[in-house]
Amino acid sequence: MAYAGVVLDIPTRALDQAFHYLVPDEIEPDVHIGSTVLVSFSRRLAVGYVTSLSREIPEGLDPSKLKPIERVLADPAFDEQAAQLAEWIAREYAAPLSESIRLFLPPGQSVRVRKATEDGPWELEESSAGPVDDRWASLTEEGRSFEPKRNSSRQRALVSALSSGPVRMAELSAMIPGAASVVSALEKRGVVEIVRRRRIRGSEQTTLSSATAARPEALTQGQGNALAAIGQAGPGEVVLVDGVTGSGKTEVYLAAIERVLEQGRSALVLVPEISLTAQTVGRFRSRFGERVAVLHSRLSVGERFDQWDMARTGDASVVVGARSALFAPLSNLGIIIIDEEHEGSYKQDQSPRYHARDVAAKLASLRGCPLVLGSATPSLESLVRCREGSHRGVAWHRVEMPERPGNAVLPHVQVVDMTRQFALGNRSIFSKPLVEGIERVLERREKAVLMLNRRGFASFLMCRECGCVPECPHCSTALTYHERTHSLACHTCGSSWPVRAYPDPTTCCPNCGSRFLAQFGVGTQRVEDELAMLVGDRATIVRMDADTTRGKGAHQRLLEEFDAAECAILVGTQMIAKGLDFPEVTLVGVVNADTTLKLPDFRAAERTHDLLEQVAGRAGRGEVPGEVIVQTYWASHPAIRSVEAHERSLFLEAEVSDRREAYYPPFSRLGNIICWGRSLGEVTRVLDEVARLVRERVGEQEGWRVLGPADCLKARVKDQYRRHLLVKAPPAADLGSLLGACAREVDKPRGVSLAVDIDPHDMM
Ligand code: ADP
Ligand code: ZN
Ligand code: ZN
Repeated sequence: MAYAGVVLDIPTRALDQAFHYLVPDEIEPDVHIGSTVLVSFSRRLAVGYVTSLSREIPEGLDPSKLKPIERVLADPAFDEQAAQLAEWIAREYAAPLSESIRLFLPPGQSVRVRKATEDGPWELEESSAGPVDDRWASLTEEGRSFEPKRNSSRQRALVSALSSGPVRMAELSAMIPGAASVVSALEKRGVVEIVRRRRIRGSEQTTLSSATAARPEALTQGQGNALAAIGQAGPGEVVLVDGVTGSGKTEVYLAAIERVLEQGRSALVLVPEISLTAQTVGRFRSRFGERVAVLHSRLSVGERFDQWDMARTGDASVVVGARSALFAPLSNLGIIIIDEEHEGSYKQDQSPRYHARDVAAKLASLRGCPLVLGSATPSLESLVRCREGSHRGVAWHRVEMPERPGNAVLPHVQVVDMTRQFALGNRSIFSKPLVEGIERVLERREKAVLMLNRRGFASFLMCRECGCVPECPHCSTALTYHERTHSLACHTCGSSWPVRAYPDPTTCCPNCGSRFLAQFGVGTQRVEDELAMLVGDRATIVRMDADTTRGKGAHQRLLEEFDAAECAILVGTQMIAKGLDFPEVTLVGVVNADTTLKLPDFRAAERTHDLLEQVAGRAGRGEVPGEVIVQTYWASHPAIRSVEAHERSLFLEAEVSDRREAYYPPFSRLGNIICWGRSLGEVTRVLDEVARLVRERVGEQEGWRVLGPADCLKARVKDQYRRHLLVKAPPAADLGSLLGACAREVDKPRGVSLAVDIDPHDMM
């Protein structure tokens, strides 16, 4: 007899432990760690996942009281170490165990039990995005000597199409009109046969000319050092590749992966969602071909399933993906790589609210492989861990790549003080130096990138008479102004109003009734329009922002347009700052560098610095040196001065001492408990109770501070009131266990939600 630990998937209950069941002999061969099973639990049926198996009776349990597993519902999706990782995630991030296990399940394949009617029986509800087959036609043995009729052009076309191997029916039909009927006629005569073959969705090849990874003749010294450090890293150790933009970090990853593949092991590469473009994927595909599986959220469920399954079957030994690729079922993992490790998008903003960097570190130690982090602007967290030499008992090493390969040099950066421009009478979005820079690009027929910092104070309407900025009546978010439709929209809930109708049809300013609402901040459309007037038909203008990249493949199409143009200017938001590698780009302009500096967030300066450094890095990646022009109203800020001087320490020293003084990460750990609901009274009561419990447990422990409760910065969203409690703890504290226990302990009335966010990245 065997005993299984099973984590139950019951949505209404956040159960935080596995329960034990008997494994009946008849089904024992099918029960493995990772199997989905059906069990009974307090007089209902429930779906569960097997997380442990043993032959011995678990201590303290009476075998006669254990119930049997009823059925096996699905093949194993994860192994023992993955189960350990799921448990770690649940504890570390105060998430329900079933939610962290679901991270490991095949995409689009879920089983639930539910009742169709109140007192009806429990029923299984399966949604499956399982494999699909294609029909392929091929010539049979006899078919090879078949002579098509002279007068049948379709037969001849078909036989010649098949003469060099099987062809998919869909393609045959596209090539030869009426192919299906010819095939079925020839099938009857034994000339052609139809076979089914699994189709792997989501592996389309890219067409970007720049998306290749030709092997360089020699590695730079920095690349050699980085590879050596990776080679020497012991199991679970972390190597931070701190390499300036364009220093060739991708080549380091490719070479390190090659070594791992030679040992018969597999590799996992995480890149930020936004840079999972044709260009990045193409570089990995061009080096490793069909062994690469790609996982990101823009794939359909079927595509994601097939790519995931390639990892499971071992057809893929390299997985490139966004943060959720961490949970791909690769066996024999030899290396984990996280590119652009400083990116905020590695933090998941829904439960389980994990940070991919920390989960990867845990995964690396469970699998006994190194973790490689790469960035031109490493996070303060990683820099401090390397400075201290270790974190949570494993060694962290930093290796620098200070130079670009060949003749490429870092671009010259010029900071333009916009208050001076204003005083000189320049009312345009573009300063004089930026206009001159654009003119030089046009003359030389090269390419430019103009970035508009949209997060923070985007395009708002401000009352000229009283200074009020209209807010959404449902959320406390400033409304942004959309020029083409002359409307105000809320980016939190999506509501929008024609300008004249806000908040009622007769007045404009909700505060004083003035009609003089003026635009404050600009949008990408406005930049595009002014740019069009400046350049006329001398260059192609490509705009890339949330609006133009909405459709599937839009992102790639716009980049291809930019790639193909002879002389072009790419205008866009933050999304163009990262990962692009176009050697013809010789000018990068930042239209408004400082808007993100004003955000009420302790990472505001770090994010601004990273963004400027990254976007500056798009210039001068080829033979021609590049220049960068940064427009700002706050030229003296260390985040801007350090980019101007290519001197990170200017920013770092100021920032590190600010953080240490204010007891913010990486010198402390944060936990944020958010409570929301329609009734402010109930929200307040629930969170006050949580706060009481937290304070009780924290007691007098050194380094712990409990702040609040207080209203969130966005105090109302979609008519729900939001309050939060912030907890600071020492960097190594087990914050998740403590806050998770408190959150589970309070009674929440219906309509009140509570979330625990450990190491939060968005505290608004
Ligand atoms: P990063 O990721 O560090 O910003 P990339 O990996 O995009 O930099 O590399 C920048 C450019 O340098 C790419 O075009 C790449 O092909 C090229 N490159 C990388 N390594 C070498 C090398 N050793 N010799 C010559 N060119 C290289
Ligand atoms: Zn007003
Ligand atoms: Zn709203």
